[in-house]
Amino acid sequence: LGSSLRGSLDKLQGKSRLDEDDVEEIVREIQRSLLSADVDVNLVMDLSSSIKERALNEEPPGGTSARDHVLKIVYEELVGLIGESTDIPLEPQTILLAGLQGSGKTTTAAKMAWWFSTKGLRAAVIQTDTFRPGAYDQAKQMCERAEVEFYGDPDEEDPVKIARDGLEATEDADIHIVDTAGRHALEDALIDEIEDIDSAVNPDRSLLVLDAAIGQGAKDQARQFDDSIGIDGVAITKLDGTAKGGGALTAVNETDSSIGFLGTGETVQDIERFEPNGFISRLLGMGDLKQLSERVERAMAETQEEEDDWDPEDIMKGSFTLKDMQKQMEAMNRMGPLDQVLDMIPGLGGGFKDQLPDDAMDVTQDRMRSFDVIMDSMTEAELENPRTIGASRVRRIARGSGKDEETVQELLEQHKMMERTIKQFQGMGDGDMQRMMKK
Ligand code: GDP
Ligand code: MG
Repeated sequence: LGSSLRGSLDKLQGKSRLDEDDVEEIVREIQRSLLSADVDVNLVMDLSSSIKERALNEEPPGGTSARDHVLKIVYEELVGLIGESTDIPLEPQTILLAGLQGSGKTTTAAKMAWWFSTKGLRAAVIQTDTFRPGAYDQAKQMCERAEVEFYGDPDEEDPVKIARDGLEATEDADIHIVDTAGRHALEDALIDEIEDIDSAVNPDRSLLVLDAAIGQGAKDQARQFDDSIGIDGVAITKLDGTAKGGGALTAVNETDSSIGFLGTGETVQDIERFEPNGFISRLLGMGDLKQLSERVERAMAETQEEEDDWDPEDIMKGSFTLKDMQKQMEAMNRMGPLDQVLDMIPGLGGGFKDQLPDDAMDVTQDRMRSFDVIMDSMTEAELENPRTIGASRVRRIARGSGKDEETVQELLEQHKMMERTIKQFQGMGDGDMQRMMKK
């Protein structure tokens, strides 16, 4: 299916404007792809009309082919529908999982706990399923594999009591993930039970766990769970199979929520934080959608002179955050070391570098790799505001990245040093620059 969409897109190659027939054909192929990925027919129709209207009325930016332009529109409309990832801050919280039996709740609970532990947070799973035989053992085993705390009580029949006792028993953990029982269908007993657990644990977030293969059944489930406990986000499981998870979009739409996590296998590490790009490309069966969209984005930025992509020149203006440092490290992989990157900045002559302290820009490959792993365990906010990283955060980040606190401190030191150096450059007047360039 992806290939027929690709086929009709390829026919547009070389065209700079689309006519009505071109747009009709593409929209038809997109509809076909989305419907076969289980996206709700009404959503598909709404989407189709916005795509049609925009493709016919919006002018492609200069130098962009009609094909790329229409893809960018498709991509943007889908991002608009699916939305950004559910906001899940890296801070202490209780998360309740809801869903039907077999949807993947227990697996997702252990996976999420593992994921949080890689971020340096202590996570515990509380198993309240007293309905399914073997639920206790299954959850316990998965938590052992994930190396996270577990609480359950195979002798207790009251799930609400288990939930309460579990929160108490694991009170030292930062993250409490409360796994619940499912039934084959939405029986009153299931809804009553989860409502009781919800009132007992008072979760910060409730996630609905859905099997990627769910079709339009997602709608009723989402409605009922949202009415009873309030759904903040969706976790889609079994995306490693053939199903593309389009039914989950119905749930997102119905609950006015977003997608938080994706399950992509049976082991505890097979979890990804949702990100719209990959998911949309998968939905349409096209691998290169994001890249294409970015290409158009770049063409637009070039014409509009509004670049928000990182550019070596950016470090000469404004503040230099850890995020800049991370991007700069990525850039080094592509462009070479920072001193060479500095060479690429117009207006900076060679003499400039000679003024740098020898180790200011020295980040060896090994350190870079460690730094990269450490930065992965930081939040966006920490990357933007390194000054907020105090001792307890250093500890958390070290734990999450598996590096020692000293290395985290070294990273922060390195950042400070680079920041100081860059500040110096920024402080130099034009006259100084001129003199340097002449050297
Ligand atoms: P629950 O009844 O909602 O707790 O669902 P379980 O967590 O017990 O999962 C039901 C089945 O789906 C189990 O056999 C899991 O191994 C399997 N499963 C869960 N998530 C995934 C996934 O992302 N990929 C695959 N392939 N299987 C999964
Ligand atoms: Mg279960």
